[in-house]
Amino acid sequence: MAVVSVDRRTGYWDREKEIMTAAARRRYQDGWVRALVRHAWERAPGVRRRLEAAGLGPGAIRGVGDLARLPVMKKHTLPDLQKADPPFGGFCTVPMEKVRRIFVSPGPILEPLGPEFGGFHAETGMYAGGFRRGDIVLNTYAYHLTPAAHLIDEALALLGCTVVPTGVGNTDTQVLMARTLGATGYVGTPSFLMTILKRAAEMGGGRLPIQVAQVGAEPFPESMRRAFQDEYGIIARQGFGTADLGMLAYECTEARGMHLVDDAVLQVCDPQSGEPLADGQLGEIVATVRHESYPMIRFGTGDLTVVDGSPCPCGRTSARMLGWRGRADEVTKVRGMFIHPRQVDETVARGGGAARYQAVVTREGHQDGLTLRVELPQGADAAAAPAALEAAIRDVIKLRGRVEIVPPGAIPDNAKKIDDQRKWD
Ligand SMILES: [Zn+2]
Repeated sequence: MAVVSVDRRTGYWDREKEIMTAAARRRYQDGWVRALVRHAWERAPGVRRRLEAAGLGPGAIRGVGDLARLPVMKKHTLPDLQKADPPFGGFCTVPMEKVRRIFVSPGPILEPLGPEFGGFHAETGMYAGGFRRGDIVLNTYAYHLTPAAHLIDEALALLGCTVVPTGVGNTDTQVLMARTLGATGYVGTPSFLMTILKRAAEMGGGRLPIQVAQVGAEPFPESMRRAFQDEYGIIARQGFGTADLGMLAYECTEARGMHLVDDAVLQVCDPQSGEPLADGQLGEIVATVRHESYPMIRFGTGDLTVVDGSPCPCGRTSARMLGWRGRADEVTKVRGMFIHPRQVDETVARGGGAARYQAVVTREGHQDGLTLRVELPQGADAAAAPAALEAAIRDVIKLRGRVEIVPPGAIPDNAKKIDDQRKWD
């Protein structure tokens, strides 16, 4: 049986220690960004074509600050780029005999895994989430076609953990293996971990030995995190990654947002222009990842987030990504700020709730107007509601907006969350 005595809540992964200060991180990232772009220019014709189209040479990107000179490559363009220059769109820098695996993601999009180990950068996050040498880990992500299981598998090997590649499903086998092997760790979706824990209770034999879990690929409500902690004694932390980019962000023990990994540069950008936005603004995740054999540079994921640059109580100095906030193709730009239907939901929840609601965007003269139309639930305090909702609009959307209380039935069943009524002719 595994004996894991190290405190899972303290300490840093080896390389994190070296690049802990903000200034050191900047030097580190400037260095690898510069080298990666030059390397890609020489060996990845797809990257070279993008640089040339932007009028840039191999030395034009001297560090993180120059990245925005290169237009964003949108994820949805990859299938066509790969068809035009098969199999990898000219983005793979190594010959086929050096490719260890080829993953197939929906699209279809092909992702080569080159000779380097740990190119997906998941080990830092696994360590911060509490995984330690000696853990025996059930890896329940799918091992076929897509890369998630493999990227976690390599990270666990780097940490010195033992992997049980159980894959998806087979709940009874998962329970049996957890007990037989004394598995201390779990990787997969949070909902499947709950399924396993409930099934274990039905099968009898006491609590499973699992102490730590890295979850992802679906929303992870705080209520579920508390249940893992309080009812099952499991530290559960989430990460954010994509098939093309690997792990981009991870939760530390504080679980207040996901720290950005140092081997990726995550920029929150205007989904239309690709310009980086200031901290705290909603925008598209555009990432550049230190991955020599498949360098994704200024890759637009189509996912939205907000980044918080304030210090974390854990002592890490990296900025934190405040969760997944929807898809970039659903945003509406109002007075220079992007708003997403999920922010409208959050605003109403914070402002005391509503039976139905809709944000309406109008144009008055040269100014955008934002009005939140709300049908209040029965018994709600109609006098206090507008002020609470207006405050919530400022907090969540970072704009001033009006609140209009409308009678029941005024907002149709199938109304869009954001109704953009502006005319631009
Ligand atoms: Zn932290």
